[in-house]
Amino acid sequence: MAKLRRDRGIVLTARDVQETDRLIQVLSEREGKIAILVKRARRMESPYGAILEPTNYVELIYYVRDGPYLLKEASLVRLFSQLRGDAAALEAALMGLAFTAEHLPEGNPEPEVLRLVREFLLELERGLSPRVGLLAFELKLLSLAGHGPHLTGCVRCGGEEGLTWSPDEGLICRTCGGKGNEVPPSLWRGMRMLTRLPLRATGRVKVVKEDLEVALKLLRQFPSSTARTRP
Ligand SMILES: [Zn+2]
Repeated sequence: MAKLRRDRGIVLTARDVQETDRLIQVLSEREGKIAILVKRARRMESPYGAILEPTNYVELIYYVRDGPYLLKEASLVRLFSQLRGDAAALEAALMGLAFTAEHLPEGNPEPEVLRLVREFLLELERGLSPRVGLLAFELKLLSLAGHGPHLTGCVRCGGEEGLTWSPDEGLICRTCGGKGNEVPPSLWRGMRMLTRLPLRATGRVKVVKEDLEVALKLLRQFPSSTARTRP
């Protein structure tokens, strides 16, 4: 008989599969990142469609098997309901959760990562500036996952002149082989501060809007967890 397991966690992503099913990714307390198939989730009579939306904190009972696990039951633990009323905060939350799904390897339960994700959603509800908060969250997540970008001068020589961006490592200067556009000092110093400060204090960091959008793009060039584990 298939093994049943109970766990709690935050729904990171949800997408439609087959005719009526949904596949969700959850950052769970006991197992880390897991994928669960929800049969008939899109049928009118399904009680789980609304519960298993990204950002929700849920309790799950599921069958353990090869491939995605199979949902048996789900219930809501906590709804970050104020996010639903604030389009910018919700967009930042969904982007941050999708980034988490992409950059964390399967399994690997990390209480610190789950704490950071919860804190991010809570602070967004409390009025955290969405774009600065998102950037700070993503920087912190990468550094907790053990591959945060190098942000203290060039990764090879430590120099602070002519710095460019390497998607694998972070800052690298032209002398050491860096290519592409220069990353202005205001930007990488801002990113470094955002990595270090608690999320709720990141509103104090002044980041120019253009710099902010460039930084969010740079982080999206980072290899995903699947690309990273590939030989
Ligand atoms: Zn260098």
